[in-house]
Amino acid sequence: MPLDVLPSVCPHDCPSACALEVERIDGTRIGRVRGATSQTYTRGVVCAKVARYAERQHHPDRLSQPLRRIGDKGVGRAAFVPISWDAALDQVAEQLTRAARHHGSEAVWPYYYSGTMGIAQRDGINRLRHVMRYSREDLTICSALSGAGWLAGVGALRGIDGREMAKSDLIVVWGGNPVSTQVNVMTHIAIARKERGAKLVVIDPYRTASAAAADLHLAPLPGTDGALACAVMHVLFKEGYADRAYMARYTDDPAGLEAHLATRDPAWAAGITGLSEEEIIDFARLYGSAKRSYIRVGYGFSRSRNGSAQLFAVSCLPAVTGAWQYEGGGALQSNHGLVQLDLTLIEGLDVLDRSTRILDQSRIGPILTGDRRDLGDGPPVSALFIQNTNPMVVAPESGLVRQGFARDDLFVCVHEQFMTETAAMADIVLPATTFFEHDDFYTAGAHTYLQLSRAILPPHAECRSNHDVICALAGRLGARHPGFELSPIELIDRTLRASGLPSAEDFPDHGWLDCCPPFETAHFLDGFGHADKKFHFRADWAALAHDGSRLPAFPDHVAVTDDGDPERPFRLVAAPSRSFLNTSFNNTPSGIAREGRPTALVHPQALAGLGIVDGDRVRIGNGHGSVVVHARAFDGLQPRVVIVEGVWPNHAFEEGIGVNLLTSADPGLPRGGAVFHDTSVWLSPA
Ligand code: SF4
Repeated sequence: MPLDVLPSVCPHDCPSACALEVERIDGTRIGRVRGATSQTYTRGVVCAKVARYAERQHHPDRLSQPLRRIGDKGVGRAAFVPISWDAALDQVAEQLTRAARHHGSEAVWPYYYSGTMGIAQRDGINRLRHVMRYSREDLTICSALSGAGWLAGVGALRGIDGREMAKSDLIVVWGGNPVSTQVNVMTHIAIARKERGAKLVVIDPYRTASAAAADLHLAPLPGTDGALACAVMHVLFKEGYADRAYMARYTDDPAGLEAHLATRDPAWAAGITGLSEEEIIDFARLYGSAKRSYIRVGYGFSRSRNGSAQLFAVSCLPAVTGAWQYEGGGALQSNHGLVQLDLTLIEGLDVLDRSTRILDQSRIGPILTGDRRDLGDGPPVSALFIQNTNPMVVAPESGLVRQGFARDDLFVCVHEQFMTETAAMADIVLPATTFFEHDDFYTAGAHTYLQLSRAILPPHAECRSNHDVICALAGRLGARHPGFELSPIELIDRTLRASGLPSAEDFPDHGWLDCCPPFETAHFLDGFGHADKKFHFRADWAALAHDGSRLPAFPDHVAVTDDGDPERPFRLVAAPSRSFLNTSFNNTPSGIAREGRPTALVHPQALAGLGIVDGDRVRIGNGHGSVVVHARAFDGLQPRVVIVEGVWPNHAFEEGIGVNLLTSADPGLPRGGAVFHDTSVWLSPA
C-alpha cells in the first residue's frame, strides 16, 4: 500500500511533459507512476518507461557520492575512488580557473542539454557561464532545424493546442512516431477516431508502430518530405482545394506560391520521394477534402541537412487549405514559445556578453579535436563541465567525440545520475538528484500547460541538484549573481513573478496552469507571428540564421542531403527506440529486455542482395568507420532505407562504438543541427 500519492511532472526530453501521480511507498521510495487524470493533455496516460520509473529511481547503479578518477578513461566505476563534496568542488573550481588562466575564459565550456527539461535546474548552468564569460553553447542537437523551419512560415514558436486533435477529421503525423516517443498524441487521435471517425495518416520513412496503427502510411525516402509537401500543394491548387479567400487575407504571396508550384507536380515528387504519383495524389485529395485537418510535426525533420526547408514546406499546407482557421485544424511543431518567461535571473542574461564565442553543441567532436572551423582563432576547449547530457553516445561523429574526450590535456567534470560513458571519461564525477528529489518548473512542446513540481523524496545518498552544484561552484569561482543566492523554489517564484505569472505560492495546488490563448490568437486569426501578421510562403531565411542565403524562399525540395553514391547506396536513419529516450533509459532492465540488441531493419530485397538472412550480422559503414549489428528482415520501408533504433550504449555494440560513429557533424541549414537521419552507408555481411 502506498503511503500517499503525490503530484509531479515528467522532466524527460519528450514533448509531452506529462503531469504525474506518484505512489510514495515510504519516505524514500516510490511505487507506480501514473498520468494525472485531470490534466487534460496527459489524461491519465504515461509511457511504459515512466510508469516503471521506480526501476530507474532506485536502480542499483545510481551514483551516490562524488568520485575522482585514478584509473584509465572509459573504464567506468572501477577507475574511480570516492572523495568528499568539498574536495570534489575544490578540484573542479581549481581546474576551471587554471584553464581560464592559461588560455582565457573561453577555454572553459559548460556543456548541457535536456536530460531534464526543468528550467531552473537545466538552465542555471548558463548563469555561471555568463558571469564567468565561459564559451557559450549553441543548442542545435534537437530542434534547431525544425524550429527554424516553423518560424519561417508561422513566425512564432507555438501551434495549435494538441488537445484539438480530438476535434479533427484528419490527423497527419508527419516525421514522428508518437506510439514510441510521445504516447499522449495517440490518446487524442483515438478520441477523434472514435467520436468523429477521423482518419490517421502517418508519413515516415519506415512503418513505425504509429504507421502500423494508421489508415494510411506514406514512406518517402529520408529528406524528401519537402518534395512531397510541394506536390500535395500543387494538387490542392490544381483541384480546387485551396482556400483562396483565406490565403488572400492571411498569407503573404499565394499567387507567387501557386506559380512556383506549377512545376512541382506529383510526377516530379515521385521521382524524388520514391512514392508513386497515385499515393501522392490520393493523400493530397484526402488532406484537401478535410476542413479540420491537423498536422502533428515530429522531430524527424530536425535530423536532416534540409530539415528546416522540409518542415517549412509542410507548415504551408494548412495555410493553402485554410485549415488554421478551424477548431481541430492547423499544425503543431512545438509550444515551447507559448509561455514567455523572463529567464534573466535563472540564466544570468543581465550579464551576458554577446562577444564571447559560441560553440555548436552538435559539433563537440570536431571542437574537442581542434577543428578551426569551430574554434576560429580562439583557444582550444581545455575544460568541460557537463550536466544533463551524454555526448559520448548521443553526439554525431562519435569517433571524433571519443578522440576529443581522450585528450590528456582536457579536464572534464560530469554531474550525472549514472556512470554514463561520458562520465566514465571524466576526471571528477558528481552524483545528481532526479526530478523526484528537487523542485522545478516546466513548459511543454506538446501542450499549453506551465507546470511546477516539488521534491517528493529526499536526495538519494549524497546526490545534489544541478542548482546546488552550480551555486557551490560559483562561490568557489568568485562568480557573483543574485541567482546564486536563492533556493530553487525562490528562483522559480521570482521568475514567475517577473514573467507576470502567478507566484509559486499562488500556483494551482495540482501543479499546472493552462496558458492556452483564446481561439482567435491560438488559431492566428488575429495574425501570425511576423511583423505583417501574415503566414509567409516566402521565407526570409537570412533573417533567421547566418546560413540562410543557401535556402530558397518558396517551399521546395532542397537537395543538400547525403544522398549516397554507388559506394554507399543505402540511407541510414538512426531513429529513436520505444524504450530508451536518447540514453536516459538505456540501462533499465525492462527497456533492454524489450529492445533486445542493436538491430538494423533491412528490406528483404536488400538482404537477398547481400546474401544474408534475417538474424545474420551485418556491417554498416561509411567514411567515418563501420559498426556491426544484427539484421532484421523488414518490408515496411523502401529498399534503400536502413533503420537502426536506439540510442544503445557504445558498449552494446560488438566493437565498442555505436551508430553515431556513422552520423555526421555537418551542420544542417540554415543554423546548424545534428543530422542523425541523413547518412549514406554501405552494407556488407559481417
Ligand atoms: S510520454 Fe514523455 S513526458 Fe510522458 S511520461 Fe513518457 S517520457 Fe515522460
